[in-house]
Amino acid sequence: MLVVGGGVTGCYTALDAASRGLSVALVERDDFASGTSSKSSKMVHGGLRYIEQGNLPLVRRSLLERQRLRRNAPHLVQRLPFVFPVLSQDGVLDPRVVKAFEGLLWTYDLAGGWRIGRLHQRLTVPEVLVRAPRLRADRLTGGLLYYDSRTDDARLTLTLARTAAHFGATVLNGAACRGLIRERGRVRGATVEVGDRSVDVRAGVVINATGVWADSLGALSDSGHRPRIRPAKGVHIVVPWTRLPIDGTVTVPVPGRARRATCTRWGDVVVVGTTDTDYDGPLDEVLCTREEMEYLLDGANTAFDADLSAADVVGSIAGLRPLVGGKQGATLDMSRDHHVWTDPNGLVTITGGKLTTSRHMGELVVDEALKVLGRKARCRTARLPLLGAAGYDTEATGATGAPARTWASGTAPRPASSPS
Ligand SMILES: Cc1cc2nc3c(=O)[nH]c(=O)nc-3n(C[C@H](O)[C@H](O)[C@H](O)COP(=O)(O)OP(=O)(O)OC[C@H]3O[C@@H](n4cnc5c(N)ncnc54)[C@H](O)[C@@H]3O)c2cc1C
Repeated sequence: MLVVGGGVTGCYTALDAASRGLSVALVERDDFASGTSSKSSKMVHGGLRYIEQGNLPLVRRSLLERQRLRRNAPHLVQRLPFVFPVLSQDGVLDPRVVKAFEGLLWTYDLAGGWRIGRLHQRLTVPEVLVRAPRLRADRLTGGLLYYDSRTDDARLTLTLARTAAHFGATVLNGAACRGLIRERGRVRGATVEVGDRSVDVRAGVVINATGVWADSLGALSDSGHRPRIRPAKGVHIVVPWTRLPIDGTVTVPVPGRARRATCTRWGDVVVVGTTDTDYDGPLDEVLCTREEMEYLLDGANTAFDADLSAADVVGSIAGLRPLVGGKQGATLDMSRDHHVWTDPNGLVTITGGKLTTSRHMGELVVDEALKVLGRKARCRTARLPLLGAAGYDTEATGATGAPARTWASGTAPRPASSPS
């Protein structure tokens, strides 16, 4: 099996196939996780918003996969508290809708949120302020707290590639698929460019796991290919934690917009995001615009007494969600479901979905590829620890503060000044 694309989807696909005993190669044209898989909000979550959209099956599946990732990669996936401040007006939540929103949180808990070991709870004003001391308190009437998880998306992807290699897969970065090899009309491999060399890789089946680039490979296989990907741009900005001291994630409204933003502590910085807009620019060069930065600063400044300006922004992260669907409606309302299909020439494509559901996506696409190969083999990844998971003791590591040091890019944590 040849897997094209070394994002989280391709890497979990390679691991799934290798752990079922197939002979696997994975090629990535740039570096592993260089695409969308290093630009996400880094949440391993059910997605409360998908309940609001009425997509309960996606939430249930995501919460199940969240738990599997927590078990299979405890060293990479940590529990993350989410606070929704309740404001008397103009908040994400106001007192009139709190009861209804709590109903959503109950649904979330019952759909699988409970597996994290804590149910949602109401917070008093002082309890909210302990977690977010600079939140504007004049309209604050309380808060709601629930738990999801987060991960370093690029590290997770690299660990998947390494674990796939551990199971015998050949994984190669700096290797771009430039063409497909056919035998009697069927796709039976690819021409891969490695440096200045061109290598023909023969395979019984080729999997297209190239995210937002999936239509390009699809067109190489099938001249009648109809584009299916609608890229949606998402931007985060990064500010020093000292300018926006919070614990976990705090969700804030963005004035005048339907969207809300999340502010998440990441060691010594806070990541504020995200936008969700249609994108028709170059897929290889996605950058945060000034307007997007101001939109996010505006959201943070309205919620917090922080007076953040462009000078406080130490970085930005911009990426494209590989959504599948037509041009109608806002990308924000489009489904985050994944899609697997085999074209008339046997190229199998997997796209859409989320970082959180990547294990399940790998399972589905390998099942599909096995049909092309005419083989059967049982999926093993549901209970397959990733490299580094064995012997990891979350509580012992927490006590030494080790994860905090890792997240803070080498700088020591500052418990004395932490609001928690
Ligand atoms: C702003 C934002 C926030 C998000 N937040 C979350 C979140 O909090 N939680 C969550 O679960 N999900 C989140 N997502 C979704 C998640 O990040 C994506 O669904 C996931 O990363 C997609 O992974 P992928 O492997 O399909 O694509 P990619 O990571 O883009 O991987 C595709 C790879 O294919 C390679 N490639 C392309 N063409 C070729 C070729 N010809 N030859 C070889 N290689 C090729 C590319 O270089 C790329 O590395 C978010 C997405 C965005 C944009």
